Amino acid sequence: MIYLVEHFYSIQGEGKYTGTPSLFLRFGGCNMKCEGFGCHETASSGEDVLGCDTVYAVNKEHFSHLWIPIKQTQELLNILNLYELPESVDIVLTGGEPLIYANEEIFVNFLKALDEKGHKITFETNGSLNVDFLKYPVYKKCIFALSVKLSNSNEPLKKRVNGEVIYSLTSNAQESFFKFSIDAESINLGLGEEINNIRIHSPSTQVYCMPLGGSKEELQRNTEPLIEFCKSKGYNFSDRLHIRIWDKNKGV
Ligand code: SF4
Repeated sequence: MIYLVEHFYSIQGEGKYTGTPSLFLRFGGCNMKCEGFGCHETASSGEDVLGCDTVYAVNKEHFSHLWIPIKQTQELLNILNLYELPESVDIVLTGGEPLIYANEEIFVNFLKALDEKGHKITFETNGSLNVDFLKYPVYKKCIFALSVKLSNSNEPLKKRVNGEVIYSLTSNAQESFFKFSIDAESINLGLGEEINNIRIHSPSTQVYCMPLGGSKEELQRNTEPLIEFCKSKGYNFSDRLHIRIWDKNKGV
């Protein structure tokens, strides 16, 4: 079963294609929790749930009753008709972790249909789950924004960094780039070295560093130290426009 959490038409807020009009589909479920990001969301039970800034799309136990079960590819395609979209608008598949559905027929057929209509498809992924490029060649035509998790996520190294998967995604897809969420404190705790150790698996893939934060205030606190970090390493700084503009509001 595939779960969709929300969809919205907006501009891409982060990474290489910042500012590009894009239709976002956010899928529910993830193979990680990233509680180290320290974002809180109140469940309908009133319970405070800790996780990343999209914890409502990750935590099945507390939020899956809000997710939409998808049983047919056409249900996903119908979403495009709900908006007045420019022809072949960019489609961003995000989550949660959208690649948990990489082998689902409904999902692969959706990708094929989008590709046939000329859409550029970007996956926002944590880069820990591989896809079968031989069996499903449509993935070769996709862009992979690899937000490989760092130790500030509090996920175990073995789970968050898989060199073979990083190499496979970056060498088979038509385009890919790294996106890292970084807070000011982590910069002084050897985070540059962590990024180097991830880049070993794909040295020519471009790096974009974004300030960590689920709110405008937190984002601002991490911005200037991160800009200095990017200047010293030669990495690209990427803002997170959606948070900068709309703060904690979802689906914009
Ligand atoms: S991998 Fe991404 S979506 Fe999943 S818990 Fe971590 S930050 Fe959230």
